[in-house]
Amino acid sequence: MRSMPPRAHIDNLPAILPVVKQIAHKHRSLGIRPEHYPIVGETLLSAIKDVLQDAATDAILEAWKEAYGVIADVFIGVEREMYARVAGQEGGWEGFREFRVERKVKESDVITSFYLVPKDEGPIAAFEPGQYVSAMPEIPGEAHTHIRQYSLSDAPGKPYYRISVKREDGIAGTPAGVVSVFLHEKVQEGDTLKLTAPAGDFTLDREDPRPVVLISGGVGLTPTVSMLHALTETDSSRSVTFIHAANSGRTHALREEVTEKAHLHPNVSVHYCYQSPTAEDRASRAFHKEGRIDLAWLKSVVPSTDAVFYFCGPVPFMKAVNRALIEWGVRREDIRYEFFGPAGSLEEAEETVARS
Ligand SMILES: Cc1cc2nc3c(=O)[nH]c(=O)nc-3n(C[C@H](O)[C@H](O)[C@H](O)COP(=O)(O)OP(=O)(O)OC[C@H]3O[C@@H](n4cnc5c(N)ncnc54)[C@H](O)[C@@H]3O)c2cc1C
Repeated sequence: MRSMPPRAHIDNLPAILPVVKQIAHKHRSLGIRPEHYPIVGETLLSAIKDVLQDAATDAILEAWKEAYGVIADVFIGVEREMYARVAGQEGGWEGFREFRVERKVKESDVITSFYLVPKDEGPIAAFEPGQYVSAMPEIPGEAHTHIRQYSLSDAPGKPYYRISVKREDGIAGTPAGVVSVFLHEKVQEGDTLKLTAPAGDFTLDREDPRPVVLISGGVGLTPTVSMLHALTETDSSRSVTFIHAANSGRTHALREEVTEKAHLHPNVSVHYCYQSPTAEDRASRAFHKEGRIDLAWLKSVVPSTDAVFYFCGPVPFMKAVNRALIEWGVRREDIRYEFFGPAGSLEEAEETVARS
């Protein structure tokens, strides 16, 4: 949970509601229930006691207990509505549902897609482009349950969900990623994967007629590819600029389907930035910029700041993009992003810009 000092915003629900909703989406996708809150509350209080030691006076602990109770009630209420909505929607469900891997497709050296259809053969819930599902594979020998989020990488309205997973190999002796490596190595076509219904608030605003700029780094392209598909399938006039940064053509996933969009739709332009292009990339002119995305290049490929910007990728990448957009004068409310990990802050970059 993001840190919030007790009482700072507690009497001002509208101020905290966007953050509460973002977290509640994640909670809903993880199956967090009202009965879990007291356990977390008790553990939080004992952690506060541990850290503050004598400074944790009865008054401080009482204030935290009260604050936690208020916040927990807000979450429980918001999540109750979310559970009811998703279970009540056509094709929706509560908790985990079994899906069969219908197709497994290697998209690059590091990214593989899984096409997932429900084993019960019923309909599946619609989703907003940008949303994710939680997957809970059963991993033999693992003592703990592992649940991970994966953004849906195809457009809504298909009879399957597609997730595209980057294999997280351990770097310099660190352990490899548990779920991504299991999915890559062990999960085959015909196998079962349990999923929760789509969730998340990083979604395409379909009402806004202004140009859309989609910027991704590495596997962060999964939600933006879904948005690109949805935009071209439903609206042929909205200007879309799709920008993707990859290490090289070897790690660049979903390239053909994205490039094809630009060929088929005059309102779509596609720009690739490779950090370390291979000789083959150079020979085939597979990329438009070498190195990293910077403001000068963004200005050369994005028509104007009067657009809605969506981006996703590794945190340093997101900080650089955020910083560039703010420096260019893009309005804060037109900048939307997703973290592929715990939600953090890109503020550091903004503060640096403000100071400079
Ligand atoms: C909203 C959302 C959407 C997402 N969408 C996608 C998506 O579309 N595609 C995608 O591929 N991922 C996506 N992710 C990320 C995904 O959920 C997982 O975090 C990712 O697959 C890694 O999980 P893992 O179990 O393989 O790695 P974990 O086992 O969770 O490990 C995470 C990382 O830490 C490293 N590590 C493990 N142990 C150590 C250690 N002791 N010291 C140092 N490093 C260590 C691992 O090598 C790995 O890189 C998304 C995440 C979120 C929150």
